[in-house]
Amino acid sequence: MSSIPLYHVWQYTDVDRQFWQEHLESWVPARIFDAHTHVNEPRYRVVEMTEEKRRQYWVNEVAEPIGAADADRCYQVVFPGRDFSCLAFGHPTLEFDIEASNASLQIECERRGWYRLAVVRPQWSADRLARELDQPRVLGVKVYYALISHDPTTRDKHLEASIFDFLPHQQLELLNERRAWVTLHVPRAARLGHPDNIHEIRQIRERYPNIVLVIAHLGRSYTLPHAEESLPHFADDEGLYFDNSAVLNPDVHRLALEVLGPRRILYGTDNPVFYMRGRRTWRGRSYINHTNYPFHFNREREPPEVEAQYTLYMYEALRALKQACAIRKLSREDIEAIFCGNAQRLIGTVLQ
Ligand SMILES: [Zn+2]
Repeated sequence: MSSIPLYHVWQYTDVDRQFWQEHLESWVPARIFDAHTHVNEPRYRVVEMTEEKRRQYWVNEVAEPIGAADADRCYQVVFPGRDFSCLAFGHPTLEFDIEASNASLQIECERRGWYRLAVVRPQWSADRLARELDQPRVLGVKVYYALISHDPTTRDKHLEASIFDFLPHQQLELLNERRAWVTLHVPRAARLGHPDNIHEIRQIRERYPNIVLVIAHLGRSYTLPHAEESLPHFADDEGLYFDNSAVLNPDVHRLALEVLGPRRILYGTDNPVFYMRGRRTWRGRSYINHTNYPFHFNREREPPEVEAQYTLYMYEALRALKQACAIRKLSREDIEAIFCGNAQRLIGTVLQ
């Protein structure tokens, strides 16, 4: 069969079809819920992506916005024959008109049966936030430190912020009252294991126990050392959840399953970025992204015969999760819980 355009510079090819057949077709459950996907109509970009920014950070080179119709089409391609739904949100950056993006995604979620998180700024009052939460199919909020204020020279101006700087108490109070969902990308270069992150998350869990708190990307644990120094701190908090989006390391998935158990982990892709082709390797506390497109960040190219076998990063993430589930000897029920059941259960608590 021929290649078909997927997203950005990526095609869906016979290599991907074969990878799906060989590794995923008989393993990925019939129902898939992607608990972490970015859907943002490209027309709402208000600050241009520049060459300088593309050179700064690898995600800037691959994170072209994907609109709802395209996102829907891509999911049908990459999950053939699956019953699919998702929790979608826009790009949490002031380089997009976040109000227009929220409003347009609202219409798309109602049309497609998806759910969404409102992208909210910390400056918003509880009333402003309530107007978002009042809309159907809105489960809660996506917050992010880059929404504190915009700096055109760096995305990391607020990296070392406190969680409460971008998820303030007046919003937490309302979210707790509404039993709403919060997907939290933790700040700080040290990631989830930073003592202040551990302390602040515990504070949120104690003061706002009705919030469905989901820590994104297993706490940004993209390497095993980051997972080892963070996840065990939260082993005993049964009511704290994690999405496993953007994690390609099988050892991290294995540790998360061991420490948190399969009922606290939600499948997520972090698409559209993970339609990228290639693979990731790890060196201690850092990772290297290899791909077959001449991006600036792609400095460690592999031989052409290796690149020719590259598949999508999201497929590599699924294979890593599959390996971890096999090592942990997870039941089909547990696997189905990760892919859909856990999210459905939590949605039920938000919408009750
Ligand atoms: Zn994300």
